[in-house]
Amino acid sequence: MHTPSPPVMPGLAERPSRVQWSHDVLEVAGLSDVGLVRAKNEDSFYIAEPPRADLARGVLLAVADGMGGHLAGEVASSCAVDFMSTYYSDEPFDGTIEEKLSQKVVQANETLLALAQTSQMLEGMGTTLSSALLVENGKLVICHVGDSRIYLLREGELEAQTNDHSFVGEQVRLGLLTEDEARVHPARNIITRALGIRTRVEPELSTLDLKPGDRILLASDGLHGYVEEAQIRQALMESPCASEAAARLVGLALDAGGMDNVTVVVATIREIDRMIERLADKSPGLAYAKTLPGLEEPEK
Ligand code: MN
Repeated sequence: MHTPSPPVMPGLAERPSRVQWSHDVLEVAGLSDVGLVRAKNEDSFYIAEPPRADLARGVLLAVADGMGGHLAGEVASSCAVDFMSTYYSDEPFDGTIEEKLSQKVVQANETLLALAQTSQMLEGMGTTLSSALLVENGKLVICHVGDSRIYLLREGELEAQTNDHSFVGEQVRLGLLTEDEARVHPARNIITRALGIRTRVEPELSTLDLKPGDRILLASDGLHGYVEEAQIRQALMESPCASEAAARLVGLALDAGGMDNVTVVVATIREIDRMIERLADKSPGLAYAKTLPGLEEPEK
């Protein structure tokens, strides 16, 4: 006898813990692990997955780290990354790509606030959201809220492209704490910007020009909160492909005790000129948007 399954909370449809694809100009892998201590994985990630020949409309990557009791953290992070997939909807938009991404984050915040009103189980939910869009002019547009991070590895140098919106992050920027001190500080979990908490959210935006060989890493704090940047850099440098890099990074977090959920998305730029060509190919019908399994397709 088949018994009806209990109603699924919004956003709690099956979430992938591993995604990878390889394209002649770009290679991407995402991996999420509950860790060794927590009972649930409240992190989520999103990777837009293009059909083989098409990278039109950009490739969107996102990592979110949810918080809140019961199911709230999972719902918050999952809904936030799912909402970002509406970036690919055809709603008219006049502004720049930066403005569109930023608008999506603001709307994701509103969506979470409204959702939190619908169930006591969702009260107090919030999430970080770090998103990166590879666009047709060979640029990477970053839109970020919270203490997840986006790194760029270029010519052997690893550099965070985002600021931590956290109490200790501010202290580090003011020179009052070192990175090592911040990692063990008792107030390290205090986040100063997140989605789902306040009616106003101010995403941090930045744009950079990509080069061949660049590796982009999006990570929840389950990685950089426990693993030193020198080790992160080494793992990225020494891994021949994005999926191995992702596996090694998650392995480092587990070796460090697996105290938190850990999620990484790694993208390797193989060839920039052809990537620009592909990204600029706006032929109708070639648009893609891959949502998470079990979630609805974004409006076309
Ligand atoms: Mn975390």
